[in-house]
Amino acid sequence: MKWSRNGGLKNHNFLRKRIKPGTIRHLEYDLLDVEIGESWPIPVSVVHGSRPGPVVTLLGAVHGDELVGPLALTYLCGQNFMGLERVIDPSALAGTLRIVPITNLPGYRRRIRYFPDGRDLNRSFPGNPDSNTTSRVANGLWKNIISGSDYIVDFHTAAKGRTNIPQIRANLAHPTSNRIARSFGIETILDSEGPKGSLRRVANDNDMACITFEGGGPDEADPESVQISMYGTINLLRSLRMLPGYPSKPRFRILASGSVWVRSDQGGLLDVLAPAGSFVEEGEIVATVTDPEIPGENHDVVSPIRGLLISTATHPFVNSGSPIGHLLPVRRGAATLKRRLDEEGCLIISGSDGDPPWREDEDIEDIAIFGEWSGGSPDAEWGPIESAEEEED
Ligand SMILES: [Zn+2]
Repeated sequence: MKWSRNGGLKNHNFLRKRIKPGTIRHLEYDLLDVEIGESWPIPVSVVHGSRPGPVVTLLGAVHGDELVGPLALTYLCGQNFMGLERVIDPSALAGTLRIVPITNLPGYRRRIRYFPDGRDLNRSFPGNPDSNTTSRVANGLWKNIISGSDYIVDFHTAAKGRTNIPQIRANLAHPTSNRIARSFGIETILDSEGPKGSLRRVANDNDMACITFEGGGPDEADPESVQISMYGTINLLRSLRMLPGYPSKPRFRILASGSVWVRSDQGGLLDVLAPAGSFVEEGEIVATVTDPEIPGENHDVVSPIRGLLISTATHPFVNSGSPIGHLLPVRRGAATLKRRLDEEGCLIISGSDGDPPWREDEDIEDIAIFGEWSGGSPDAEWGPIESAEEEED
């Protein structure tokens, strides 16, 4: 580490500004370096602590229609439901936070995932200053915002037509990413290095710790995902000893390297009975399919295996073979998991039911789920097969 807790107080040099210890600065950063035309200035808040420590960068809306990150990161910068005081007080902070609530501002304004040239920013890192628009933006972010970070958290939701339970994705073979993935304090961690060109994968390749949070769906402000994003960030900062206080920790962690898909065998309109977060038994009815052309007839979609549904379809139109749910098969550890279900049979995620208790790490049960991601990445089966891009939400 290039910082020392015993070191003196230093200004944080960022975007050609000197930020004094113990202060918050709200800056603007131009996504494009132009003299004429749109430069797309985005807000960046820097909280520079009064004591030395690591640099943590938090990004929201890399996909413009994913609003959980922008909400959580905006709340972290100011007053919110956690109390009248600021959550993150620079006088109590060790180290530095760079907070970018809306990374893909043009997409956010248009309410779309992509940049105006139709490209996906999260497949374009580290980018190229002489290439297409999205690649230039990625390269600018890489050099000016990401560079110099020790830890990165990238906040996402599911893509259109589906919803995710709050979960962390990280390459668990990358030691510092593994550490912050666990420190976020929630149950579900998917072990995946991320698609080519994703911030997570490229940051890890450059030896920076990076995890992706996923929760909720696009175009919505899922309150549970927003709250868990905030609590998780605070847990992470406490674990890194950047903020005072003990991090809260879950009762168990599911560390998954593979999944099973629940598919419809019929075409028609879907009614999901077991929402994302449900623990389902083998043979349990997860959804029904009806066809407006044959009223009165409906077909059940049953779970092929016992497990935790981490994602479900929200768009009702299905064909035979359409994925309607993404399931982590749970063999060992089912009894532990079942003790944390609500009356509807859904997992109560740590951080969603008030302040969960602090635990020693050895008191947390690790539930390993072995296997592979069908198609190579967690979300591959959701996407069109002809897609040149690797799928991830
Ligand atoms: Zn996303």
